[in-house]
Amino acid sequence: MKIAFFDTKQYDREYFKELDGVLIKFFEAKLSEDTAHLCKGFDGVCIFVNDCADKKVIEILEELGVKVLALRCAGYNNVDITAAKALKIVRVPEYSPYAVAEHAMALLLTNVRKIHRGYIRTRDFNFSLAGLTGFDLHNKTVGIIGTGRIGKAFLDICKGFSMNIIAYDKYPSADVEYLPLKELFEKSDIISLHCPLNKETYHLINEHSINIMKKGVHIVNTSRGALIDSEALIEGIKSGKVAGASLDVYEEESDLFFEDFSGEIIKDDTLTRLLALPNVIITSHQAFLTREALINIAKTTIKNFLDINKTGSSENEILKNR
Ligand code: NAD
Repeated sequence: MKIAFFDTKQYDREYFKELDGVLIKFFEAKLSEDTAHLCKGFDGVCIFVNDCADKKVIEILEELGVKVLALRCAGYNNVDITAAKALKIVRVPEYSPYAVAEHAMALLLTNVRKIHRGYIRTRDFNFSLAGLTGFDLHNKTVGIIGTGRIGKAFLDICKGFSMNIIAYDKYPSADVEYLPLKELFEKSDIISLHCPLNKETYHLINEHSINIMKKGVHIVNTSRGALIDSEALIEGIKSGKVAGASLDVYEEESDLFFEDFSGEIIKDDTLTRLLALPNVIITSHQAFLTREALINIAKTTIKNFLDINKTGSSENEILKNR
């Protein structure tokens, strides 16, 4: 079996080394309409969060005879699953919810306790505490949107901080107080996003929702960038309504994240404005990046390919009616 891996870096390649009977070619490029021709001669294609598998790309893959498209991630908002005819599409539904949930809490604590600013100060032998006052998480109300695998892991972490937990989910499944979205926006001191990106959740955080939030709210997004209207977020921060934003994802991240642009002029004014704000912390879609997660991603991805090659199906196939 021959598989083409797109958007690969050394840190994920090393986990895909030992493979019996599977020939892997790693490409640095992302899958797109421009690079889809590279899939000629491959049985399978493996992509990540910022590759593009829209209708056109899926058509090219099918014309080239590719049988399997495997995502080495959970979210599949970058794939037009309805466009696939013969192509089987699989994903890794769960690899380490803890990796993402722990990163969400790390970002939140960093922002609330201003660790990012303290770290830079002490490296410059500036031991002043002026402007570094934070607040206790204890007894604060956290609103969790999306209580699936990652949302539940985050919920457990919040319990450890004795926070009041409220939640919203289209399909409630956790042992927690669920409220309508509007009430969650009104009552939360901290809002953490753990739902998928789809038509319903696109720009869930927008001018209107920010308007009904508590003054001083902190927003955490480790899910998908386009859950937040970035311009509305900037306005919310400028007005003082939003006191902090901790982001692992950004709606226009696909051409930037995972690459080194230090020394270059970034042309995305929204991102540069966000990065210039002292109460905004951005990591570049790093929440998944733990050893445990990478091992599980590799194991499941290879199993997905081998299962489909052998039996024609996989338990992790993405169904069109989801
Ligand atoms: P999951 O499928 O286990 O949980 C998602 C939850 O969202 C479910 O409970 C579902 O009912 C709920 N949901 C669906 N539609 C909703 C809606 N319209 N409003 C509110 N809730 C809704 O997924 P998960 O494994 O917990 O992952 C959550 C998201 O985290 C993924 O979709 C992905 O975008 C993101 N993610 C990010 C990283 C990262 O590195 N930053 C890594 C993995 C996953």
